[in-house]
This record gives sequence, structure tokens and C-alpha cells, in this order.
Amino acid sequence: MFASLKRGERVPSRALSGAQAEITVAMDRGEEHTQNVVAYLEGTDPVLKNEYVLFGCHYDHVGFRNGQVYNGADDDGSGTVAMLEIAQAMMIQRPKRSVILVWHTGEEKGLRGAGYFVDNSPVPLESISAQLQMDMLSRNDPESIYIIGSHFLSSEMDAIDRQVADRLGIIRVDDEYNDPDRRDNYFRQSDHHAYHQVGIPVTFFFTGVHDDLHQPTDDVENCDFDKMERAAKFIYAVGLEVGNYPHLLRLDRDPEVTQRGKGGG
Ligand SMILES: [Zn+2]
Repeated sequence: MFASLKRGERVPSRALSGAQAEITVAMDRGEEHTQNVVAYLEGTDPVLKNEYVLFGCHYDHVGFRNGQVYNGADDDGSGTVAMLEIAQAMMIQRPKRSVILVWHTGEEKGLRGAGYFVDNSPVPLESISAQLQMDMLSRNDPESIYIIGSHFLSSEMDAIDRQVADRLGIIRVDDEYNDPDRRDNYFRQSDHHAYHQVGIPVTFFFTGVHDDLHQPTDDVENCDFDKMERAAKFIYAVGLEVGNYPHLLRLDRDPEVTQRGKGGG
């Protein structure tokens, strides 16, 4: 196992019965500086423009290891460029509510950029209707995309995802991981989780893991651009719907979460 780890290979975990280990951990503490990239598009309605729909992805990846650059084309180059396309489309057809697009930093270090945004939000958290996260959009089954967390806080968030998918008919939603009792699967693993924790309805759009994840082979040649395009069109249309919805998405799914903001989630 240690020899394969040294070669940078992944070793499947397994239980070792009766084994004991003494572990010494050395830690280097340091301070780094980085930034989220945030764009704002004002909504078209004079009143509703003071409410917001958020799109999110992360532009960081795992960097440079053993002389190799880890490009992270799917994780999350795919979400990063899909969001540029969504921003361009939103410039042409804006919803009533304002749109904020956040290219998060430090996702791979523990959702740092998302945590920072939530702690220092430029707009009141109470006025954010929903956050739509795209992290890994370009792999696996060409016909479907996982939605995760859509119904954890708001049945309206969930209904919008399904109605838009049905209406467009370009990509099917897959609920395999959309179960609140299986949150350990992927729900905590991307930026949307920080928004969920302050009572903001989210959907995590995700096309699943693969052998190139966090490997130097997560390269652009392996991306399915046709699928990415359909995923981006779908997520754009969901955002437009949330942005034009008659009211902020209702928090009707979790009796402990009835308001947005600190202490809400
Ligand atoms: Zn990611």
C-alpha cells in the first residue's frame, strides 16, 4: 500500500482487524491569500431586483504534485466555463431578481471561498432565493445529471428543477444521491453546502465521479462538451425560473429551517 501511495496511485481503503497504529502528524501552518471572483447583474424589476439568485462553481483545484500539473478540467473547469456561458446568456435575458455569480476559491481546501462569501455576503442572506452549484458537469452518462439537495429545504426548488428539465427535454435529472439520509454521499462536498447551512435552498448539479478525479488525467480531452452544453442550458433555465418566481422559494421542507440567515440553517 505504501509503495503504491508513493507512486501516486490510489489505494482502496479496507478494515485491518486487530491492527494498532501510532501516528505522528506534522503540520506546516501558513497564511495564503486568494479571492472569490464575483459578478453581479441587476434584475429588471424595480422591487424584486433587491432579491437574488446565486450561481456557483469553484475555480481552484489541487495544484501541482510530483512534477505534474493537475488541470482539473472536469473538477471544476467544467462548472467554471459553464458559468461564463450562463453569465453571457443572462446579460441578454435577465430575470426580475438580480443575479450573483460566484466563482469560488479554496473549495478543495474545505469550501473556504463559499464560507467566506456566506460570512461576508455583499447582500443580506435573507434576500437570496436559492444557490445553484455546478461542480463537475462533463462526464459519465450523456443523458442525465444528478441533482442533490433540491428538496432538503424547499419543495419549490425541487419542483422547479423537475419542471424545467421536463420542459427543455435536453437532459434528465437523476435522483440517485438526492436523499437527505444519504447526505454523506456528495451533499457536503461542494460550495453549496455553506449556503444550505444558512437556510438557503440549493441544488448541487453534478455528473458523478470517475477515475480521473483528482488525478493528473482530469484533462480537457475527457470532457463531454455536448453534455456540458446541455447541462449549462438546463441550469441557466432553472436560474431564470428562480429569478422570475413570484416569491422567494418557500422553506417548507425542514421544520428546523424556516428562515434564511445565520441561525436559520
Ligand atoms: Zn469540485
